[in-house]
Amino acid sequence: MATIKIDTTKYPGNIINNAFSPTSETRHSINPSTGEPLYEVPVSTKSDVDAAVKHARAAFKSWSTTSFSERSKLLIVYASAIEANREELEKLLVLEQGKPLTLAKSELDMTLTWLRAFATMEVKDEVLDSNSERTVLQTFPPIGVCCGIVPWNWPVLLNVGKVGPALITGNTIIIKPSPFTPYCDLKLGEIGMSVFPPGVFQVVSGGDDLGPMLTEHPGIDKVSFTGSIATGKKVMESCARTLKRVTLELGGNDPAIICEDVEIDKIVPKLATLAFLNSGQICMLVKRFYIHEKIYDRFRDAMVEFTKTIKTGDGFEPDVLVGPIQNSMQFEKVKDMYAEIDKCSWTTAFSGGVREASKGYFITPAIIDNPPEDSRIVTEEPFGPIVPLLKWSDENDAIERANSGETGLGASVWTKDLARGEKIARQLSAGSVWVNSHFDVAPNVPFGGHKWSGIGTEWGIAGLKSYCNSRSLWIWKNVM
Ligand code: NAD
Repeated sequence: MATIKIDTTKYPGNIINNAFSPTSETRHSINPSTGEPLYEVPVSTKSDVDAAVKHARAAFKSWSTTSFSERSKLLIVYASAIEANREELEKLLVLEQGKPLTLAKSELDMTLTWLRAFATMEVKDEVLDSNSERTVLQTFPPIGVCCGIVPWNWPVLLNVGKVGPALITGNTIIIKPSPFTPYCDLKLGEIGMSVFPPGVFQVVSGGDDLGPMLTEHPGIDKVSFTGSIATGKKVMESCARTLKRVTLELGGNDPAIICEDVEIDKIVPKLATLAFLNSGQICMLVKRFYIHEKIYDRFRDAMVEFTKTIKTGDGFEPDVLVGPIQNSMQFEKVKDMYAEIDKCSWTTAFSGGVREASKGYFITPAIIDNPPEDSRIVTEEPFGPIVPLLKWSDENDAIERANSGETGLGASVWTKDLARGEKIARQLSAGSVWVNSHFDVAPNVPFGGHKWSGIGTEWGIAGLKSYCNSRSLWIWKNVM
């Protein structure tokens, strides 16, 4: 196994106004594969937040009037600076998050692609009416000071997925990492210090009380939050007091409807990977498999055979697909879901379980064979490597079951008949729907959820507009 030396015993501070800003208190999180502590990071107080907001407000004055081409140029420089540090970031990401190194590399690939794409995306004025008397334009000025609140499962991409859109549209932004994964997010701020003007991009790190300090702060104009539904509701409630603009990217419980005409051997490796990737800790993985009854048994058996080949272990070991669960709180939640197997007498097609001998939070994949539709494994997002397989025979029934529940983040249909696939896809209530795929995302494609999976969208021009106000500009030509 690769041994990574951490040469820092204490990170120098928050990233405020392009300088390290130390805090009197510090904390650390741990490597979830080994339980070993990582280095100390800041614990921000209200005065740190006040300082960041003050500098962000000051910086907004000039950044909001900086040309698109200049902002674009700096985003490209920033992407190159991240690229120059990518190896260190990838290793740090494995250390703090637990994901396999190959997945950390693909997170960095996506990060660079996303930033470089945002740098080309200009939200242009739209001409709504133009005649000899008047021109009416819709213009999109930046909102002001934004705050990006980031979760622990995808801390690099979901950070730049907020920083890029905020900055290219002329806002300033303060990022708050998850207390479980502050390390890469602080490094991303540190890299930004030599690229952006002071106050434009800042990072404040801390404990559980830091999120509310930011959502309540009257000097922040918009919050973009990615995380759980429960916290998303608190964020919205808190933001309502100062009428902040809010974007919420929340949890999902994605269904995949598998029709009877698929080639099982071709799709099972992809589908099983899309269930267990990042140990199931991705908002938009397949979390419920609805399989046509004619192929159910063959599909289940092929899925079991493939799952037997999946390696669970430390992210630095070669060929690992399932790393540890990221933190003890999530580990307890996932263990509780596994405990339901015996309690509720579910049939397992493949039984996974906790690796008792390890100090890390390891739990191997499990496949539940046709549990009742109202069981927790079907109705809840487990956020771990455990999935239910379910049977269907009537298409409308499959659609109805796929659409049940409070979430609507992603959904997919798998069939050779593309017309049928599209017809089903158009009836699925989710922010992203795929025919013969799942979890495709792109920086130029809006991403968001229906129902309790979120409010608003990020990415794409529509997502960039969520970092802008709308200004209708009426210009009368012949008054004087
Ligand atoms: P979480 O809600 O516990 O935490 C998310 C962030 O919110 C963290 O930075 C946390 O410190 C902060 N936070 C906690 N309490 C807060 C409060 N009262 N006010 C403001 N901020 C607060 O979520 P998590 O456990 O880090 O992430 C897992 C969840 O996120 C899953 O449900 C997953 O589906 C969802 N998720 C959604 C998306 C998406 O884009 N839709 C992407 C990734 C993860």
